[in-house]
Amino acid sequence: MTASQPQPANSPAASARADVVVVGAGFAGMYLLHRLREQGFSVRVFEQGGDVGGTWYWNRYPGARCDVESMQYSYSFSDELQQQWDWSERYAPQPEILAYASHVADRFGLRRDIQFNTRVDSAVFDEAASEWTVTTSDGATVTARYVVLATGCLSNARMPEIDGLDQFKGQVYHTGHWPHEPVDFTGLRVGVIGTGSSAIQSVPIIAEQASRLTVFQRTANFSVPARNAQLTAEERQAFRDNYPEIRRRAREEMRNGIVQPLPDRGALDDTEEARREKYLARWTSGGLTYMGVYNNLILDKAANDTAADFVRDKIAEIVQDPRVAKLLQPDNHPIGSKRICVDTDYYATFNRPNVELVDIRANPIERILPDGVRTTGQDYKLDALVFATGFDAMTGSVAKIEIVGRGGKTLNQKWAAGPRTYLGLMSEGFPNLFLITGPGSPSVLSNMIVSIEQHVDWITDCLSYMRERGLDCMEATRPAEDKWVAHVNEAAQGTLYPQANSWYMGANVPGKPQIFMPYIGGVGAYRQICNDVATKGYEGFAMSAAVSAERKAAAS
Ligand code: FAD
Ligand code: NAP
Repeated sequence: MTASQPQPANSPAASARADVVVVGAGFAGMYLLHRLREQGFSVRVFEQGGDVGGTWYWNRYPGARCDVESMQYSYSFSDELQQQWDWSERYAPQPEILAYASHVADRFGLRRDIQFNTRVDSAVFDEAASEWTVTTSDGATVTARYVVLATGCLSNARMPEIDGLDQFKGQVYHTGHWPHEPVDFTGLRVGVIGTGSSAIQSVPIIAEQASRLTVFQRTANFSVPARNAQLTAEERQAFRDNYPEIRRRAREEMRNGIVQPLPDRGALDDTEEARREKYLARWTSGGLTYMGVYNNLILDKAANDTAADFVRDKIAEIVQDPRVAKLLQPDNHPIGSKRICVDTDYYATFNRPNVELVDIRANPIERILPDGVRTTGQDYKLDALVFATGFDAMTGSVAKIEIVGRGGKTLNQKWAAGPRTYLGLMSEGFPNLFLITGPGSPSVLSNMIVSIEQHVDWITDCLSYMRERGLDCMEATRPAEDKWVAHVNEAAQGTLYPQANSWYMGANVPGKPQIFMPYIGGVGAYRQICNDVATKGYEGFAMSAAVSAERKAAAS
C-alpha cells in the first residue's frame, strides 16, 4: 500500500480513493483521523451529523453531561491540549464537551478531511483487489484499503414502537436526537418515557420548567449523586501536575479506566457498620466510583445486596411518599449490572408537587393518544413527550451499514446470533475492516476515551507495521476469534452482569440476541493482551500481501 498525502475532503481526487475510510467523527473518529494523518495515510471521514462530537453532538437534552469526571473524560494524547483546556465543572455539561470537540477539530485541522451530513450506507470488500468500496448517502463511492467503524456504541437512538405515536399532536423528542434549538417546556404537561441515565439527568431540569411532569417507569434504576461542582484552579492544577501518572494508572491499573482508590477487600469482609461508613463516604463524595468500594460487588450477590440496600435506604430517606419511594427502589437486578446512573437531585425531584411517577411495569402503556398516553387503567394528558428510551447499543449503528465481506457474506448475517470479534477489533471474513470499541472489548464498561485512544493507537500502529512490510490484507483468523468469543462469554458468566435485562446484553431491543457484548477483563489486562498480540507479529490475525505489485501499480 502506498500512503498518499492528505487531500482536501471535497476534491474530486479525494472522493475516489483513500488509504483509510473512517465512519464517524465522534471522539474515536477524530483521534483516528489525527493519528492516521500523522503516519502519512490518506483518510476520508464520513459523519452523518453536521459537525464533530458524536455523542455530544446528538445528546443535547437538558441536563446532559458526562458521568466520568472531565479531568479524566478527555483526550490524553496531547499534553498541550490537556494542560491548556479548562474544564469548568467536575462533570462538564454537554455544550462544553461539544465545544471541546470543536476546539480539538480546529486545533488539529480535522474538519478538512471530514465530510459532514453524509451517511455511509454500504461497504463491499473486493477480494481480488483487497480493498473496500464505500457508498455514501450522497451517492458517491470511495475505494479504500481499510475501513474503520468509529460509529459509536450509543449512537443509534431507539424509539419504541407504540401504537398511536404518529397521531400524537404535541411535540415528540428523543434524548439521543435532541434538536439544536433550545426546547422550552415552560407551562407544558410533559411525559418522559424511560428511567435510564438520560432520563435521570433530564427529569430534574424538565420538572423545573414543566407545569406537570409525568415519568413513565418500567424499571427502576440505581442512581448515585454526582456531587457536581465548579472546578477550582487548584483542582485543575493538581490534575495537570500529575497527568502523566494519572493517565498511566487509568490505562494500566484501573479496570474501568477511571483513577480511584482501589478496594482491598470484599464487602462481607467488613462489619455492617464499617460497610455502611464506606458506602456513605462514596455516596457523599459522589460519582461512579460507588461501585469500587469493594472488590466483589459485581461478582457476589450477597456482597452486591449490601451496596444495593444502602442505595435503596437512601431513596427511602430522600423520597417523602413511601409508595413513590418503593417504586423508585430497584428490585429486579443487582446494582451495577445495568450501568449505574449518576444524578443531581433525581430522587428529590419526586417530592415536587408537579411530578408524578407512573409504574408502567404494573400498568403498561397501551397506546399513545393524540393528547397523551394511555396506560392500563388510566389516561395522562400531555403536551410533549420525551423518549429517554436509549439505544440499540454497540451493534446498532454497525448493523445499519450493509457490510459485505468475503464470499458475499454480510456482517449482519454473520452476527445474526450475536456479534463475534477477535479482541473487539476485527471479525473473521471481513478483512481490513476494524471496529473502535467494538463488542468483545472493554468499551462501554470503561472511561470510553481511555478505550478509544487505546484502539486508535493499536490500529494505527498495526497499519504502519503492515505498510513497512508491504502487507495489505489483514483478517482475524477463525480459531483466534472463536477462542476470544469464548473467553469474553466466560468472563461475563463469572459475574452478576448477565442477571440484568440490560443494553449490555442486547435485552432492550426486542428480538436482539442476548449476549453480554463488552469484555469484562478490564482495560489494563485487555491492553496487555492487545500489546502481546502485536508483539507476537499480530498473533491470531492473518496478514498477507494480497495484491500483486502490477495490480497495485495499475490501481494507483
Ligand atoms: P460517538 O460519539 O457515538 O460517535 C459516532 C459517530 O458516528 C456519530 O456522530 C454518528 O453520527 C456517526 N455515525 C454512525 N453511523 C454512521 C454512518 N453509517 N455514517 C456516518 N456516520 C455515522 N462515556 C464515558 O466514558 N463517560 C461519560 O461520561 C459518558 N457519557 C455519556 C453520555 C451520554 C448521553 C451518552 C449517550 C453516552 C455517554 N458516554 C460516556 C459514551 C460515549 O458514547 C463515549 O464516551 C464517546 O463519546 C463515544 O465516542 P465515539 O466516537 O466512539 O462514538
Ligand atoms: P437506557 O439506559 O437504555 O434507558 C432507557 C430507558 O427507557 C429504560 O428505563 C427502559 O426501561 C426504558 N424503555 C425502553 N423502551 C421502553 C418502552 N418501550 N416502554 C417503556 N420504557 C422503555 O438509555 P439511556 O438512559 O439513554 O442511557 C444509555 C447509556 O448511555 C447509559 O447507560 C450510559 O452509558 C450512557 N449515558 C450516560 C449518561 C451520563 O450520565 N453521562 C447520560 C445518558 C446516557 P427498561 O429498563 O425496562 O428497558
